Amino acid sequence: MTARLLDGKALAEQIKRELAERVRDLTARLGRPPGLAAVLVGDNPASQVYVRNKRKACSEIGLASWLHELPANISQEALLRLIDMLNRQADVDGILIQLPLPRQIDVLTVMRAVEPRKDVDGFGPENLGLLALGQPRYCPCTPLGVQQLLVRNGIDIEGRHVVILGRSNIVGKPLALMLMQKAPGANATVTICHSQSRNLPELCRQADILIAAMGQARFVQADWVRSGAVVVDVGINRLPDGKLCGDVDFEAVRERASAITPVPGGVGPMTIAMLLQNTVSSAASLL
Ligand code: NDP
Repeated sequence: MTARLLDGKALAEQIKRELAERVRDLTARLGRPPGLAAVLVGDNPASQVYVRNKRKACSEIGLASWLHELPANISQEALLRLIDMLNRQADVDGILIQLPLPRQIDVLTVMRAVEPRKDVDGFGPENLGLLALGQPRYCPCTPLGVQQLLVRNGIDIEGRHVVILGRSNIVGKPLALMLMQKAPGANATVTICHSQSRNLPELCRQADILIAAMGQARFVQADWVRSGAVVVDVGINRLPDGKLCGDVDFEAVRERASAITPVPGGVGPMTIAMLLQNTVSSAASLL
């Protein structure tokens, strides 16, 4: 069996076309375009690329965007002052704080400072709490991208066993919460694994849908995957030759899986599309 490719790039383009129509309508009704303010601290090259790509996607669908670049040695107080200003800026619907942040800054304090309506990354305690309570407002963009990629490719999640490798606050944990929701496009039985889990290969073989979000290059081997399982690779790792690869040994696993995401071109573009979607939803909530 050679797996069907779950093409996140093409799907993200389709979602952006759908969003562009909503943006035209919202711009007319609000008298301004929906807007996203990006905050970039320091000069991490990967973060610079991510923020550039997010702003480019904003302009493709007619969203306004702003970039606030701060030096790596910025104090937490100065960053909080900027967030406070953005919270009060009326034409800003979404605030994106690009992670990682430098050591002197406490991520949770920063996430708590973002006004929940503008927390379009869905990382703040109010939005994560609402998700845990089964009343999601904004779901974190990467998990939402994974769910949309499955749903819009007609992959049934309900009642299936999903095994997630990784329990971070931005991917694994919210993804588990989302897929276990009592809701269409969810209702899965979820197992979450991490660095202390025993017998990973055995746990992975139980998955109908296996989702890798560890940040470990080509870690998941073909014999960890049940024949016919769906495999989603969230990982983005840079190899010594400069090329990108996921957490899954793609060439070997695609011979066992029924469907698989490529890296790049899988979950990455979906993450950006979901950030745009959350920003549009934030603006729409004003009407
Ligand atoms: P983190 O480093 O925050 O979390 C990694 C998780 O994987 C942790 O829970 C860790 O366990 C677990 N883990 C690490 N090594 C192993 C191992 N050998 N066996 C089992 N579990 C392990 O990473 P993120 O969640 O932020 O990101 C994960 C990956 O996804 C990265 O490659 C990142 O670049 C990528 N990413 C991609 C995005 C996209 O848009 N496609 C967006 C965000 C991230 P423990 O908790 O015990 O430490």
